[in-house]
Amino acid sequence: MSFSDMPVDVGPVYEGERIRSNQMYVELGGPKIEKHFELVKVRNIKDIEDGKVTLHGPDLKDMDEGSRHPIGILVEVAGKQLEEDLEAVFERRIHEFTNFINGVMHLNQRYTNWMRISKTAIGKGFNSFNMMGTILVRLFKAELPIIEKCQVTFYTDPKAIEKPYKGALEAYNNRDERARGLHDSDVDMFYGCVLCQSFAPTHVCCITPDRTSLCGSINWFDARAAAKVDPKGPLFEIPPQECKNEIAGEYVGINETMRKRSLGEIERIYLYSGMEYPHTSCGCFEAIDFFIPEVNGHGIIDRNAGALAINGLSFSAMANTTGGGKQMAGFNGISLQYISSPKFQQYDAKQLGLDRGIDLVVWMNSGLKERLNEFLPKDIIDKIATEKEINDINNLKEWLKEKNHPIIKTWTEEEEEIEEYEEKDAMIPVGTQTMTIPGSGGFGGFKIILKNCKIHADTVIIKKIEEKKKR
Ligand code: SF4
Repeated sequence: MSFSDMPVDVGPVYEGERIRSNQMYVELGGPKIEKHFELVKVRNIKDIEDGKVTLHGPDLKDMDEGSRHPIGILVEVAGKQLEEDLEAVFERRIHEFTNFINGVMHLNQRYTNWMRISKTAIGKGFNSFNMMGTILVRLFKAELPIIEKCQVTFYTDPKAIEKPYKGALEAYNNRDERARGLHDSDVDMFYGCVLCQSFAPTHVCCITPDRTSLCGSINWFDARAAAKVDPKGPLFEIPPQECKNEIAGEYVGINETMRKRSLGEIERIYLYSGMEYPHTSCGCFEAIDFFIPEVNGHGIIDRNAGALAINGLSFSAMANTTGGGKQMAGFNGISLQYISSPKFQQYDAKQLGLDRGIDLVVWMNSGLKERLNEFLPKDIIDKIATEKEINDINNLKEWLKEKNHPIIKTWTEEEEEIEEYEEKDAMIPVGTQTMTIPGSGGFGGFKIILKNCKIHADTVIIKKIEEKKKR
């Protein structure tokens, strides 16, 4: 396969290339554009014109420098061995293959895709979607030889993208719906994916029926189909073996695979915890589940959130802490599908005496809550705050009390414990230490409370002492 006819280089060496706003010629999709998508569909072989590239809307050379546009990428493939279950896995390769192009940056997936083309690439003559489509066709056929024919259609016009965008959302929903009915206890094989190791070298996704991949684009069915057609490829089987802890979702086979595929970096994974041995996060997660120490609960913010989270941080600010293939207790990259699973962070909930992981969630951005509305238990929906009701963490506690949110059951004991230690000046039990660091001027300062220190502390929370709260 050659790209000598292209004005820019193409190859895996360019994966991970970042294009900052001052280097960018145009931006396609992303958070500032309403409708954008990427989709792969398996078609009948006679319906595909191999190598054909079609564009609906302005071409790169017609776009003004610094402008933003919608982007729809529809890749249609055909081949005797192809099945619908492979669509999602092929679709994830759009991210990889577009990033092979020097001067193109691609982030995210499905309806959150986001691309930038650099000024340098445009300057060298990479100024047409026909070139991008041709590169995609060649890479799809070379890297996935079971694809016999491939054609690509781009949508950059805001009107022209509307219908295919709607069709793409339906396709994603249909895939998610099918996966929703299956649970981890129904299967005897899990799957792994290392497609994101080019960005996060120690990250390995473990894909189970209850834990769709954190990018949200590869469910258990998709992973099974991919591992079947290409067992030596980036998606592979993980025999779970012995279950060491059912509530936490700890399996001998998963731990072994993580150790091997993360080059020894990750030793243990609790599938259903964001606080103890959490699953690693690359950078493609659909949402972030974050701990809110002030109320002992969790918030969830998704990629499309316009507002800041209740902790005052944006999605992108928290994504920097969450991603990179690390195990980051309290900051967990997750798929939207996992939030509606009965297994969602069940270990963390049980540790606090709550029945369900969803009972930990005290805040979500409003768009996410709307999207998940029909999939979450009815008794919790109205108790989860959004930026529309509460945008100040100081008011959240009162609001949760008013709503009788299940998390308040976990407060009483904690507050009583702390007050008891303070009142009696009692010996502090092993595993709980408090200390005060004086502020400048010799008053006020911070109290550092480390509880249950036998649990490793990746984060130390420093809280200002509020006089009136006596804490
Ligand atoms: S997030 Fe996980 S499943 Fe999705 S492409 Fe990356 S490694 Fe694969």
